[in-house]
Amino acid sequence: MGYSMLGERVGGGGGPRSTGNDSPARGPGRLRGGAGPEPGPEPFPTFRSKVNVAKLTLGNRPFKQGDTLTDGMEKRTRNPEPQRTHALDLEPPRLREELSRHFRSRHQPDYRADQVLRWIYESMAVSFQEMTNLPLAEREALDETFHLQELRAARTSRARDGTVKHLWELEDGQLVESVLIPSGSRLTLCISSQAGCAMGCTFCATGWAGFDRQLRAGEIVAQYREASRWARENDYGAVSNVVYMGMGEPLANRKAVFPSLTILNQGFGLGARKITVSTVGVVPGILELARRPEQFELALSLHAPGSPLRRELIPLEKRYPLSEVMDALRTFAEAGGRRITFEYTMIDGVNDALELAPKVAELAGELRAFVNLIPFNPIPYRDWRPSPRPRIQAFRKALEDRGITAMVREPRGRDIEAACGQLRALAETPTG
Ligand code: SF4
Repeated sequence: MGYSMLGERVGGGGGPRSTGNDSPARGPGRLRGGAGPEPGPEPFPTFRSKVNVAKLTLGNRPFKQGDTLTDGMEKRTRNPEPQRTHALDLEPPRLREELSRHFRSRHQPDYRADQVLRWIYESMAVSFQEMTNLPLAEREALDETFHLQELRAARTSRARDGTVKHLWELEDGQLVESVLIPSGSRLTLCISSQAGCAMGCTFCATGWAGFDRQLRAGEIVAQYREASRWARENDYGAVSNVVYMGMGEPLANRKAVFPSLTILNQGFGLGARKITVSTVGVVPGILELARRPEQFELALSLHAPGSPLRRELIPLEKRYPLSEVMDALRTFAEAGGRRITFEYTMIDGVNDALELAPKVAELAGELRAFVNLIPFNPIPYRDWRPSPRPRIQAFRKALEDRGITAMVREPRGRDIEAACGQLRALAETPTG
């Protein structure tokens, strides 16, 4: 679901690989020269995206056979700091182990590890110097061994309606966004899982802008920690819900996203049902999520109820047709107590014909899914407009007449360009 500043986007993307860490091996998106997606098991020549190999460079020489995209990523890293452990990358039990080992080696009591965990997860400390109940020498030793600061706020914009967008700069200079969306007693945070996106959905500027790299788990949860700190300091209260609907396709980066789910849930104490993962239909990722014991929620970017039209909007449909996605969603639903939401961006004259509503209702009814109808957020390179309001309402009524719970979502944060299709879906402001 990208953002308007770096590229506006609707919908969770999908990573077409069926195994491992899901860099978009056959994705339609584009890679920026010299950058590369998450190192997957496959070397560069198996990549089938629209990469023009001739134009890629590695340092000051051209890419050549045998180079991997990881090589390019390493070259881009300004400050890799390999010798320090990224504390936020680790799931809580593993982090505790590492801390215990560290303190043991320094002849410190084991409870120091719990002190640090409380600082990280409860106080959301971003530096060891904040951990004032630890001796100064221990804070300094921690700082030499562990890395805690993953990103910094490059820009913070607050909209008239209270929506707040943070632009985060990562250590290698990559920029990602998160958005805080207050609504009644809820404070929803939308976070990014990739820098850019390779899925190339035709209605989405993030996909249009291309893919830079996967985020690490620590870079994902750091968005939560930093945004939570900001919310706390600015009287927004605590973040109540997290949605993986920012830049990137979460299920195309499972290697980082899945640990980040654990860290948010077990570490920061956010309930699994308060966390929603969005996807354009990465079947292996849906099945993997279904196997997890926690009841994380899932949002499918549907946008069209049938394959020909859906393929035009979401190229991943070629790899994972809707019929297969529906099979995976059935498995997910049968895993028990799991909520599924369909996101449906309404584009004037493209996917908003009333004749499509019965099919959407059929799909949603089978899974007892909610449907969010999202007026399309115009993007520069497409001459598309949002569906007129009466048509959206008629579509909604057609769904409701068939027993489907459907909402029309209002855009939020327009004056700070925070809105994008799925972010608007999060606004929780039904219009009628
Ligand atoms: S291109 Fe990527 S970010 Fe944009 S909608 Fe598709 S999957 Fe989501």
